[in-house]
Amino acid sequence: MMLSLLLCPRCRIRAGPFNWLQKGIGLKLPMAAPSLTAIPAPALHPPLTDSHGRVIHDLRVSITDRCNYKCVYCRTGEMGAQYPELAIDEYLRLIELFVSLGITKVRLTGGEPLLRHGLVDLIRELSRLRTLDGEPLDLALTTNGHLLDSLAQPLKDAGLHRVTVSMDAVDAPTFERITRVEGSFSKVLAGVRAARAAGLTPLKINCVLLRGFNDDQIEGFARFAREEHVVVRFIEFMPLEEGRLWTPEIVVTLREIVDRIGRALPDPDRIGRTMPLVELPPREASETARRYTFADGVGEIGIIAPVSQAFCGACSRVRLTSDGKIRTCLFSQVEHDLYGRLRSGASNNELRAYIVSTIQVKEARHHIGEPGFLKPSRSMVHIGG
Ligand code: SAM
Repeated sequence: MMLSLLLCPRCRIRAGPFNWLQKGIGLKLPMAAPSLTAIPAPALHPPLTDSHGRVIHDLRVSITDRCNYKCVYCRTGEMGAQYPELAIDEYLRLIELFVSLGITKVRLTGGEPLLRHGLVDLIRELSRLRTLDGEPLDLALTTNGHLLDSLAQPLKDAGLHRVTVSMDAVDAPTFERITRVEGSFSKVLAGVRAARAAGLTPLKINCVLLRGFNDDQIEGFARFAREEHVVVRFIEFMPLEEGRLWTPEIVVTLREIVDRIGRALPDPDRIGRTMPLVELPPREASETARRYTFADGVGEIGIIAPVSQAFCGACSRVRLTSDGKIRTCLFSQVEHDLYGRLRSGASNNELRAYIVSTIQVKEARHHIGEPGFLKPSRSMVHIGG
């Protein structure tokens, strides 16, 4: 059955901006003053503005807690899925509510989202939604790429714009030691190439570096970015693993990565010299990655440094877990049970009011590395990276 048929027609949000506010749900939001001239009324604050003045427009949704990899830095290898999944039409209904409040970008993640039955239908439905400005959503997906070879084209056809593939090594033995799945490297490489061929671009590859573990891959990734025409992004390791691995010393910092990549490749124009990295300007304030290219302009490297150069002040994100809980920060100590309210019959307006109130308590920043830092109860794989 088509997803649209599963939804009550009154649940669907198609009218213009703030239609739900106009119906009145008791929220105190700034109202435009009556105007005596023809000057247009000032725009309302977007509903999803947190108490620190950050506008939240980026939603990450985990659509399954299951994963087919057991990456050694992420999972213990002994724990399977820990949290239930919602039905696909329930994710769709919740995402629509967020979009009606100002979300413009939706990234599906997991667990491993390609394991989720109904994913292609969900993408197709999401591609029909419109932002408050009447634009299509920016639709992206984060995957380990294992099943991407056959799914890239169907996902593109359904309306997905981009994928980010997680890869923590560019040589097969190291890759398979990390994922603990035999043959995984060739599967993911085929997936990366299929995604590029399908036009799921710019294609980003995310790599988490751990000192003494896979930091010998840095130089190989620099070559990989240029040869495979992908954007390679290194992410600092955060204390979000199932086990207890994280120490400040294991984090390979942005500074070190930039220095090492700048010495990785010979400069064809200057015998005996290497090609330095050149920083690219940010495209938007909430961009998490510092972007670089090589001096010859070929290849892009991004570095996401939540530990050594936190970007919480520009955070525009909110997350929905596979079991329908809102997390306002990766490191939140509390979760907000949106799905519980849906299950107990809350109306769309009540659910929107709940989302708005939840955004109000979004944390100012994380406290990684500070005394008293508390690891969240869920690890990355169970939150949705
Ligand atoms: N299965 C999908 C994938 O592999 O991309 C989505 C879920 S996975 C948890 C999302 C991302 O989180 C991956 O790129 C993974 O490397 C990253 N990740 C996992 N644990 C992390 C940690 N402790 N610090 C930083 N990134 C982490």
